[in-house]
Amino acid sequence: MKSAKRRQFLMQSGILSAAAVIPSWQKKGFPPRSSNQQIPAILGGKSTIKAENWVKWPIWDKENDEKILLEVMRSGVWSRAQTVNLFEKEWAKTIGTSRCLTVVNGTQALTVAINQAHLGPGDEILVTPYTFVASIQAILANGCIPVFVDINPETFQMDTLKVEAKISKRTKAILAVHILGLPCDMVHLLEIAKKHQLIVIEDACQAPLAEINHQQIGSFGLAGCFSFQNSKNIAIGEGGAIVSNDHGFMDRCYSFHNLGLPFGIATGSINSGSFMQGTKVRFTEYQAAIGLAQLARLESQTQVRNERAAYLSSLLKNIPGILPYQLYPSVTRAAFHLFPFRYNPSEFKGLSRAHFLQALQAEGVPCSGGYTALNTQVFIQEAFESKHFKKLYTEEELTYSTYMNQNQCPLNDQLCQEAVWFTQNLLLGSKEDMDLIFQSIQKIHREAESIKKKLQP
Ligand SMILES: *Cc1c(COP(=O)(O)O)cnc(C)c1O
Repeated sequence: MKSAKRRQFLMQSGILSAAAVIPSWQKKGFPPRSSNQQIPAILGGKSTIKAENWVKWPIWDKENDEKILLEVMRSGVWSRAQTVNLFEKEWAKTIGTSRCLTVVNGTQALTVAINQAHLGPGDEILVTPYTFVASIQAILANGCIPVFVDINPETFQMDTLKVEAKISKRTKAILAVHILGLPCDMVHLLEIAKKHQLIVIEDACQAPLAEINHQQIGSFGLAGCFSFQNSKNIAIGEGGAIVSNDHGFMDRCYSFHNLGLPFGIATGSINSGSFMQGTKVRFTEYQAAIGLAQLARLESQTQVRNERAAYLSSLLKNIPGILPYQLYPSVTRAAFHLFPFRYNPSEFKGLSRAHFLQALQAEGVPCSGGYTALNTQVFIQEAFESKHFKKLYTEEELTYSTYMNQNQCPLNDQLCQEAVWFTQNLLLGSKEDMDLIFQSIQKIHREAESIKKKLQP
């Protein structure tokens, strides 16, 4: 696509904010390639990429987004009402479920869903160790025990071949995380869940609009949980949602999220009476207004992310030592909250990942090493040693050293050392931007020896 035409397309699809300016050389085509640009920036060469190259996140389009938000602000109705109802209707429609309930964030979406699936003390929940800490905190918050199933390093997801060995008498559920916005091996997981009568809850916080066999992620299990935190593909600052086709479950989730009041009652119904135990984690009208503005862009952005990710991955796989993600054959679409690959230092003359990241950042490509291993972090031990857990479990059940031995995930430990991530906003760039990422890594590969000499003398 020609730059001018492409810009028009992005404007129409709402991908570019008015503030995101295309650098002048992009209008002409390729950047000038002076010999100085052949030298890695970390060694004093000139980087080809500027910070303005990347789409600024979150996107806010003054012209189109502010009307609905201002209406809400000026109405003075800020607690849950019609705008939240509308957003929930739209989100259920988007995911293809009959119901949606918004909550304050993705962590609470998971916590409420686990709670109302009647999972609690004594129950084990199978989960990947390669996830955001919130997945595990939601399990612990309900007094359940997370049981870690090691990952498949090629897909970055839970290895379903290792699931059955982890099932015990106490296993009650699988938290199916679609980490990085890449669908997990859901087809296989559902078979296992059916065979062992396990509840499936999807952590789809990073995977809105991803699909398996043309069915939306989040619509497979009892419940699908989403996050609208600022970095997520739908950015509201904070926010979350539970989707489901189970009306009884959703009625209870609604009541639980609103102090145990009956379904449908929101605010100003002081006399209606609570019929069950609950908490209060309601979404606000202004969050819903921002959400509706962001939702208008999600489909076209997801399309672009998929195209750019496929293109970038087709380039990067040609560089020795760069191993891009793989998708399961059943995946018809991913969400690409992140673009991941594995980095092998031995193909880069022993240049460490930390120094590779440093060199790539110097080129102007924002990148990170992603998650550190979760299953060995101190918060799980702290939960096991808490007064609360000691009332729920026997001493034997809480022997942390035994738990640790049973929950080792060596492939995940390795993945945490090897992974490199690009955030989703990079994938909203042009095809030429993907070329620039590729060329930067090529340059580092070519000059790996010199970079290593400089950074690890
Ligand atoms: C972001 C995220 C959450 C939690 O969502 P918040 O809105 O930040 O509370 C849970 N799980 C995963 C995989 C996430 O990425």
